[in-house]
Amino acid sequence: MAAMHPPALFVTGTDTGVGKTAVAVAIVRQLAAAGVAVGAYKPVASGTSAADVTGDPWRLWDAAGRPLSVADVCPQIFRTPIAPADAARAEGRAIDESRLRSGIMAWRSHGFVVVEGAGGLCSPLADDTLVADLARDLGTALVIVDDARLGCIGRTLATVLAARSLGLSVAAVVLSEVADPGDDATRPDHPRRIAAAGQAALVRRLAPMPILSLPHGARAILPPADWVALGHRAEVTPPGG
Ligand SMILES: [Mg+2]
Repeated sequence: MAAMHPPALFVTGTDTGVGKTAVAVAIVRQLAAAGVAVGAYKPVASGTSAADVTGDPWRLWDAAGRPLSVADVCPQIFRTPIAPADAARAEGRAIDESRLRSGIMAWRSHGFVVVEGAGGLCSPLADDTLVADLARDLGTALVIVDDARLGCIGRTLATVLAARSLGLSVAAVVLSEVADPGDDATRPDHPRRIAAAGQAALVRRLAPMPILSLPHGARAILPPADWVALGHRAEVTPPGG
């Protein structure tokens, strides 16, 4: 299915609040800086508005250099900061489930598309659509993001295994440093030590999959990855395999 479409990547996470937008923005920015025609697609957002320049749709649109319109980045936006379907109901509206899938078409002719889900891999985007369902229907490989803090090995492996069991391709993992780690690096529980150990453990279990990191406040994911090549890759994993 992926081979039928122009290249794209779907940024999802182990949970909400793990740094997905920072990672998606860094990927979009790196591609745009390299001269790649890149767009961003957020199928649905809650807790923001079309005029909120600090919300995910605007951050993604800015990173891409403002191609098309912010409404093309996110066609379905709801103000209440709760699950999208409930946020829509709070406004007397409903999520258009087919539009979750068709909204990406505005970007397919533009170039490479970076999709950012909402919540984690198995979070509901709508009453009948999980993030994983949309990723499967769009035929895009996943970038799985976790917060670079204690527990990252377990959370990340659980999400990678869930993705593979659903037949989804995982292109890369990024550990995103959501909180400022502070400067006392001599502490054995310093966040950067925990993250480095987690990264090494994930490399041992998931190689050759790239296990990357985004330091707190940094603009670039390290080490630099070839996102276009990762977006082209169509690793086929049979469900249950
Ligand atoms: Mg986000």
